[in-house]
Amino acid sequence: MTGADLVDGLRKLGLDRTSEVIVHSSLSSFGYVDGGAEAVCSALTEVCGTVLMPAGTWDLTGIPAPPGLVRPHNAYWNAESWPDFDKRVSEATSFRPELPIDRWLGTIPETFRLTCSPFRTEHPLFSYQAAGPAAERLLEAQRPDWPLGPLEALDGDVLLLGVTHTSNTTIHLAEQYLGRSRFYRYAKSADGLWVELPNIPGESHQFDLIEPVLRSATKQIQIGNARIRRIPKQAVLAATSQLVEGDPAALLCTDDPTCRCAAALQQRLASLAGKA
Ligand SMILES: [Zn+2]
Repeated sequence: MTGADLVDGLRKLGLDRTSEVIVHSSLSSFGYVDGGAEAVCSALTEVCGTVLMPAGTWDLTGIPAPPGLVRPHNAYWNAESWPDFDKRVSEATSFRPELPIDRWLGTIPETFRLTCSPFRTEHPLFSYQAAGPAAERLLEAQRPDWPLGPLEALDGDVLLLGVTHTSNTTIHLAEQYLGRSRFYRYAKSADGLWVELPNIPGESHQFDLIEPVLRSATKQIQIGNARIRRIPKQAVLAATSQLVEGDPAALLCTDDPTCRCAAALQQRLASLAGKA
């Protein structure tokens, strides 16, 4: 596959300079790419107007909850003692805008950061980056207590490059509107400073169950070995709301009580009970 193949493919999906997209990607899904991740990033910025990508640093900046701090339905672990907590904080990396992006997000976001992206937010766990005319508007929508703000501000589409809906964070945004998948997590935000961060999304390993509901709204093509899908953000929000309003456990696993899915379900049930 070449960058030109990807440019053609993205145009076939109807994307153009007016498009705003959140991109979730897997470079290896394409097979061999001439020019590698840089070719993919160039194709995205050549075709689309504004490209938004995750830029989280959790692997470096994340820490356990301090001892004794237990939020309801939070599915997280505490340091055993204050000395243990202090040690973990000292071993974590302070958030800085130039930190590399978590590897589990793929090679493409890190390449995008290094080659294309003039802006990045400063959320210590769940940063975003963007390039294009709407980049500042999207990134300014993130606050420390509202990490999914850029997705909320996005006026456009979800673009899945060779990944499934298990990477589709917009599903988490819809969950959070319904009182589900709002977790507290902890990070080293600067030297000697740690913070509690609310509204961090939860588990997504069952999210591909949304696929049949989104099929009619999805445009897709095959490029190389990769399946490329474009889904309007509003369709993702509507489909998730429909499923979760019909079944509070939709898109969650229900056979593993230790999974964060169980805590997310309890959050939704508590939210429904509060409204009753
Ligand atoms: Zn689960």
